[in-house]
Amino acid sequence: MTPPATRDNFVPALLAWFDAHQRPMPWRARAGQTPNPYHVLLSEAMLQQTQVATVVPYFLRFIDAFPTIDALARANEQQVLRLWQGLGYYSRAHNLLKAARMVVERFDGMVPRTVDELLTLPGVGRYTAGAIASIAYDTHAPILDGNVVRVLCRIDALRRDPRDKAVQFQLWARAESLLPDCRTGDFNQSMMELGATVCTPKNPSCLICPVQQMCRAHAQGIQDRIPPAKQTKPLKAERRWVFCVQRCDGKYLIEQRPPIGRWAGMWQFISVEAATDMITPAVARAACGYALKGLTPLATVHHTLTHRQYQFDAYRGTAKARANAISPRRWATLAEMEELPFSKPQLAIRKRLGESE
Ligand code: SF4
Repeated sequence: MTPPATRDNFVPALLAWFDAHQRPMPWRARAGQTPNPYHVLLSEAMLQQTQVATVVPYFLRFIDAFPTIDALARANEQQVLRLWQGLGYYSRAHNLLKAARMVVERFDGMVPRTVDELLTLPGVGRYTAGAIASIAYDTHAPILDGNVVRVLCRIDALRRDPRDKAVQFQLWARAESLLPDCRTGDFNQSMMELGATVCTPKNPSCLICPVQQMCRAHAQGIQDRIPPAKQTKPLKAERRWVFCVQRCDGKYLIEQRPPIGRWAGMWQFISVEAATDMITPAVARAACGYALKGLTPLATVHHTLTHRQYQFDAYRGTAKARANAISPRRWATLAEMEELPFSKPQLAIRKRLGESE
């Protein structure tokens, strides 16, 4: 009979494993050091929906450019978006900047210690608040992210769908029931680490798992079926035409996206929804505001987001344009564009354009 996981048997086994096997991460405090709450806040913002290996270089560039939360609060949105470029989910960057400014204005530049205060910051939900409070200050707060959910469901052989609200409620309570009185931050990190490196979604490494003795899914041989697979919906397909319009001095026409919505505040070549199958000079002229000469295909770029699949069909052409473009449009060389934040698909088009010059 497998004993249930409790604070007494689960916590020491997991913490001992974490002490020996945790991966070094630049935002983690070394032994004997106190965590830097700003680094914890920044890393948690970046780690949402994103893997550690992807985040590390972004994190290092960020703390190099903005060594303190005050420095970040003083940054402008374009600087922050440019550094975030390529990391995706850009609402996180907007929220991070707002949160930094709020920390400076309302909390004297100190990242809050309590979950309730952290929840007042933009972009901070229950998971992030618990993670920051516990990791930065050892505040007694549980966390529940995808990795922790998987570990909890498996140790209890919980077969129900963890996306169900009632199950979520149960899992939060279960996470709290295991939370130790001290080393809370380490415990929360060890749960996430176990889920990321040992109790993985497919083929979990049960043979080397430090909590195998108290795992009911393993005892029953059903770990691969827990949690149940998500029903995937077909992605919505979206098609865009992108016009790389060049004028006689070599500059290209670009535009800034609106301040809200996808890729908010970032820059792009002139992009419009592809309303028909065929591109025509009239459509190109209406989109760009100039009659284009030599309109030729440049590239097709596919980009997949959580719920959408984009196809960008890019064309290049020249315009007899002398006048300055009106904001939010401007003319820029490829070198000048390097300083501006572009989304990943627009960067791919820009790269192709550079190669074709
Ligand atoms: Fe996950 Fe296997 Fe460990 Fe259970 S024994 S927690 S299924 S890795």
